Amino acid sequence: MLDVKEIRRHFSIYESEKKLCYLDSAASALKLKESNEALNKYLEHNGTNVHRGVYKLSYEATLAYEETREVVANFLNAKTEEIVYTRGATEALNMTALLYGMKYLNEGDEVISSELEHHSSLMPWLKVATLKKAKMQYVPLASDSRITVENFKKVLSKKTKVVCLTHVSNVLGYITPIKEIIKLAHEVGAVVVVDGAQGAPHLKVDVKDLDCDFYCFSAHKLCGPTGVGILYGKKSILDNLDPLYYGGDMADQVYLDKMTYKDTPYKFEAGTMMIGEVIALKEAILFLEKVGLENIQKHEEYLKDLALKELKQIPNVIIYNENVETGIIAFNIKNTHPHDAASVYDKNNVCLRAGHHCALPVIRHLQCVGTLRASFYLYNDEEDVKKFVEATKEAAKFFEIFM
Ligand code: PMP
Repeated sequence: MLDVKEIRRHFSIYESEKKLCYLDSAASALKLKESNEALNKYLEHNGTNVHRGVYKLSYEATLAYEETREVVANFLNAKTEEIVYTRGATEALNMTALLYGMKYLNEGDEVISSELEHHSSLMPWLKVATLKKAKMQYVPLASDSRITVENFKKVLSKKTKVVCLTHVSNVLGYITPIKEIIKLAHEVGAVVVVDGAQGAPHLKVDVKDLDCDFYCFSAHKLCGPTGVGILYGKKSILDNLDPLYYGGDMADQVYLDKMTYKDTPYKFEAGTMMIGEVIALKEAILFLEKVGLENIQKHEEYLKDLALKELKQIPNVIIYNENVETGIIAFNIKNTHPHDAASVYDKNNVCLRAGHHCALPVIRHLQCVGTLRASFYLYNDEEDVKKFVEATKEAAKFFEIFM
């Protein structure tokens, strides 16, 4: 168990919301005090642009902005040139499809995705594959709705050019055996895009060890600010891609009939970026590293096991991922719409998510209209599990008339 009392000292919301039981970190994590302070410090005491000014304040903003790149590179075991700032995982994933897919996909090529994907992973590739007359292939999910290596092999072929899969499912919490999948994909010459939005906040990620070609995530799911995300790409691949946006800061030379741009990663960062948010992201990552990703993972698993054990005893609770390995529980109260059930949790100050979690294909696969989802993170404790279990008992009892 982590020292949650100490950890909560770094999350101001626990001072203002004394009864808070926050179990919706898979949607967005609570925001770290040090990260908020860094953003505020930039806004209040700097506020200048980066890479442009030739005065001290702008120079300091540039240094802080670039320091985050080093911290992110170290977090992923990447090189700083391979770290591109984006507005979030969604933008990063779209960039992979719009830049790599539009350039390299041809008619008849195949893109492998899965029913487990978040819309932000699936939709950009579905769009680009359609435009390029390439074919989408979906890994058949195993009986417990996970992606397995065995099933991945069923759709992998010489026609596969791109594989885009989630590292950890935001609906069911399963960890994709991504390293083995990447190895197999590379054997047929395909590139692999990893949606790390739910992976990076919860697992120790080493992009060199995984050997993935792209890895995308958002700051807000790892206790950092909204509006900033990361696109990791292998330098050799990024160097051969065109920018997505054109304009300020990314240009090298501009004439009326031709133009050149800066090198990777700067050519992908056009216009005035979300400077304060980038600076703030550094604090969030340093904090998670200090606590230790492995320790966070163990802590979440412990709380999830505790909750699952209790949940299984409650009549009329349907659990969709009993053998999940991370801190996400997907469930429903029998014959009850998840939104109706959610009102009972809200009444008890338990914040959890109800709905399709921006992943409609897997909701259809589970044959339900949506699920309830409790997700644990480093600031949750046994008391949260207790409140969650009590609220579930109340909801199951309240909706008993519909059974
Ligand atoms: N992929 C997964 C697995 C996610 O959980 C999310 C966020 N819920 C996204 C992609 C999209 O992230 P964002 O909304 O931060 O762009």
